[in-house]
Amino acid sequence: MSELLNRVIEYSGKNPYACYQCGMCSAVCPMIRYMNTPPHVIIRLLQIGAEHAVLSANTPWICVSCMRCVDRCPRDVDPGEVFEALRVIVLRQGIDKVKYEELYDVEEAPSMALIATSRKLTG
Ligand code: SF4
Ligand code: SF4
Repeated sequence: MSELLNRVIEYSGKNPYACYQCGMCSAVCPMIRYMNTPPHVIIRLLQIGAEHAVLSANTPWICVSCMRCVDRCPRDVDPGEVFEALRVIVLRQGIDKVKYEELYDVEEAPSMALIATSRKLTG
């Protein structure tokens, strides 16, 4: 098990290994068009230990924590909570991943996304 996956499990209390790739999380995600990697793919990348791919995806930063995926995940993997854990792990390394202009077109982004980004910037 990768170090990153260990920490995700520790921080989120969720187990990405339980995911069977049904894709429901990606199907219900309102932010998917801004993500360069769909939520279910991030979970798969965590399973196989592809840490660089996980950490270079914009997905956890685009996620607005609406928790639709949490409501619908049949395996209690809950990507929204996994993404919160990933953000905490990265922020604790002092890496500034959140820059509006690099995340999405600010003019077009839903206000929900901008509010969520502000929350992330202020911890
Ligand atoms: S909804 Fe849950 S089980 Fe289905 S792909 Fe997403 S994380 Fe995996
Ligand atoms: S919590 Fe994040 S990943 Fe899950 S549906 Fe909402 S925006 Fe998408």
